[in-house]
Amino acid sequence: MLSCSGSYYYNGLCFLGKKNTRYCGDPRMQCPYCQHLETKVIDKRDAVGRTKRRRECLKCEKRFNTHEAVEEVRLRVIKKDGGREDFDRDKLKRGIEKACEKRPISTERIDKMIITIEDKLRKKGKEVPSTFIGEMVSKELKKVDKVAYIRFASVYRDFTDISDFKNEIKKLVRT
Ligand SMILES: [Zn+2]
Repeated sequence: MLSCSGSYYYNGLCFLGKKNTRYCGDPRMQCPYCQHLETKVIDKRDAVGRTKRRRECLKCEKRFNTHEAVEEVRLRVIKKDGGREDFDRDKLKRGIEKACEKRPISTERIDKMIITIEDKLRKKGKEVPSTFIGEMVSKELKKVDKVAYIRFASVYRDFTDISDFKNEIKKLVRT
């Protein structure tokens, strides 16, 4: 069995242990019939943010279900003016979707980007600057679609004149 603390996972993927490993759960779960501590998992089903396990007690051999839900660690964003707000996954998604509008990018690819970005944010700490989020989004978009990247960068980096914009395009053409 994989070892992961299980304190945080999203869409069934663990973000603390090995990258993208499935959260394994704690095999030591007390039997409700005889209070024995050793049980084995005989079936496991994942739903979004939830895992259901069917267990069998190693002592009395009775079976029972356990439900494990996501315990999300609160993530805060430090805004440019120094104020704090809760990290908003939907807002992140809207920003990325806007940049990807009418581009050949699947919803699955966007979801994957969001998971990757959120993973990086949570690894950075409990509070992350909004500029860091912008950088991470830029980095992911650049890998996926250069047009979407330029769209996002032009808003996020706040290109003040056309020469900034030209320079960014030149850099892209070189890579
Ligand atoms: Zn038992």
